[in-house]
Amino acid sequence: MSTLWSDHLAGLIPYVPGEQARIPNLLKLNTNENPYGPSPKALAAMRDALSDDLRLYPDPQGTLLRRAIARRHRLAPDQVFLGNGSDEVLAHVFNAFFLRGGRPLWLPDITYSFYRTYCRFFDVPHRLIPLADDFTLRVSDYTEAVDQAPAGVIFANPNAPTGCALGLDAIRRIAQARADCVVVVDEAYVDFGAQSAVALLHELPNLLVVHTLSKSRALAGLRVGYAMGSPELIAGLVRVKDSFNSYPLDRVALAGAQAAIEDEDWFERTCRAVIDARTRLARDLQALGFVVLPSETNFLFASHRTREAAEIARLLRAQGILVRHFQAPRIDPYLRITVGTPEQCMRLCDTLKNVLSTN
Ligand code: PMP
Repeated sequence: MSTLWSDHLAGLIPYVPGEQARIPNLLKLNTNENPYGPSPKALAAMRDALSDDLRLYPDPQGTLLRRAIARRHRLAPDQVFLGNGSDEVLAHVFNAFFLRGGRPLWLPDITYSFYRTYCRFFDVPHRLIPLADDFTLRVSDYTEAVDQAPAGVIFANPNAPTGCALGLDAIRRIAQARADCVVVVDEAYVDFGAQSAVALLHELPNLLVVHTLSKSRALAGLRVGYAMGSPELIAGLVRVKDSFNSYPLDRVALAGAQAAIEDEDWFERTCRAVIDARTRLARDLQALGFVVLPSETNFLFASHRTREAAEIARLLRAQGILVRHFQAPRIDPYLRITVGTPEQCMRLCDTLKNVLSTN
């Protein structure tokens, strides 16, 4: 810690992203990136955007991109908010909705760990609600009557790193029970098979759904995320954004993201390929002695029947394959493995077979 720093920096616990290693012949299955690359139309749009126009500021409202997103989800443009990756959108969400007179934010004990980082950063007290033993979220934990109402509720659906998804009826019940605060559903992985709560927005003014282009649109390197909700919620987010950075998305990102959103065909084909590969990978991992949780995401959460997860991750790394291991209570026996192409999944399984039999 430096004596030149602001006081609150000592209390921060920064998020630790998955490793971006420089290893020859690396197979990266540790950060849930998409193996198929972005839509060729998105790449072309970005090349076109590399012009003299870059001397001009981008549209602070991202009007065309918001329109394209609204069209895709059958919403009005004033129901869409853009950010520099969904992590930034989530930061603005904390600032806009969860600082409510010291009331606690409710979130599952096992979920995307950035939520807790933001709790520290924004000084939002929180209550961790344990998932059931099978890692499913118990709706009654969120709908019960309590003395102190929450400041808000946030969870990922499908959840990360478990991959389990909750149905729309459950989300409706939670949002209805907690109508005096914002309920945020982070749908970073929803396009790989789960149902989107966007379908509930017309009936629940306190529901906010967050999406990213990093996973199903294969644009993690571009940094584009968005939130969808009632115009009232979106106006709150815009107020925060315009007090922080009016131009979160540059001209290249706006052009590429719009073309990616409009290329439904590429989106559907690549999501389908990931889902098919996931089914095969789950079966192959089971044959290698893993217990694999059901997944509606582009990753699998799996524990080996006899071997320790940290050791397997180490053995794979020595062979140039990265998977994610979280040293955290309850999930320590598990590995989170991103679904790659069929060839990548085959390399993973062949390597696993080798290292598990020779070590
Ligand atoms: N939410 C969840 C559940 C995630 O796993 C991630 C990716 N780490 C994000 C949000 C952030 O995604 P991005 O900032 O790339 O949009």
